[in-house]
Amino acid sequence: MSDHATHNDKVRVGQVKEITSLSNPVIKDIRALSMKKHRDETGTFLAEGLKLVIDAIELGWSIRTLIYAKGQRGKDQVEKIAALTIARGGLVLEVSDKVLTAITRRDNPQAVIAVFEQKLAALEAVRMAPDDTWVALDRVRDPGNLGTIIRTADAAGAAGVMLIGDTVDPFSTETVRATMGSIFAVPLVRVSEAEFLAWSKKAEPLVVGSHLKGSVDYRSIGYKGRPVILLMGNEQQGLPDTLAKACGKLARIPQTGRADSLNLAIATGVMLFEARRHLLDLAEPAATGKTPS
Ligand code: SAM
Repeated sequence: MSDHATHNDKVRVGQVKEITSLSNPVIKDIRALSMKKHRDETGTFLAEGLKLVIDAIELGWSIRTLIYAKGQRGKDQVEKIAALTIARGGLVLEVSDKVLTAITRRDNPQAVIAVFEQKLAALEAVRMAPDDTWVALDRVRDPGNLGTIIRTADAAGAAGVMLIGDTVDPFSTETVRATMGSIFAVPLVRVSEAEFLAWSKKAEPLVVGSHLKGSVDYRSIGYKGRPVILLMGNEQQGLPDTLAKACGKLARIPQTGRADSLNLAIATGVMLFEARRHLLDLAEPAATGKTPS
């Protein structure tokens, strides 16, 4: 990332840079993260919101740049993450509202945002234990669907999400926003269809394909005590035969009414909460580490 200040921009004591100019090259670089090409080249992405940034750091994600609105200066939590970012060799920018609006392309931007290094898990490192559930998505196209699925996988206690074939970028701003922070909690694996097929043959999980022509009611499957992959089809084309053939079960969610199918994220949610029903208990909110509201 380039690092030249314009004449308007100052470096404050403690290595915090004050930036008000949209033409500052550092800001130009950060704005370019809205493009996949730039995210791929730099291996970074943008996340918005103080809570999200704190969670990400706590979960061990590497922060490259912390950006906050001028009004946040002196706030305890902001100063703490600023110090931590500097200690880890990152950059801290205190910016005007105009700059924040330009970076996030939103009228009411979050007051704290950050650039993080991307992180994906390797397929070879995936070891499935009984009752582990992974979601596998075939060529998912819609960023909102992917983000919602990552968030839902987190809420249902899934072990991770596999992205098969040519999928939308999980680190796009739209996907990251839709995950509501779960992008930092749910391991993601990228695989080709061939890699997925070879791996599932070897690892032997129960692969449940979610299919409009499935002959099995999704509620009748014995998920308990088994490692399970929930394999979901592409939004337009559904599951191709090559993947459907690799499934131990082809499950259908019974529908009534006029809709041909459910939205992919909704279908994934329905499947996930059924597959993990025996593991989810209202009486034990502490198991999620979160306080009930
Ligand atoms: N036109 C596509 C088709 O023919 O499969 C519709 C795909 S649907 C929008 C996206 C994915 O959601 C499907 O591939 C399937 O995995 C899942 N899905 C949606 N409705 C479902 C249902 N009633 N039963 C099982 N899976 C469903």
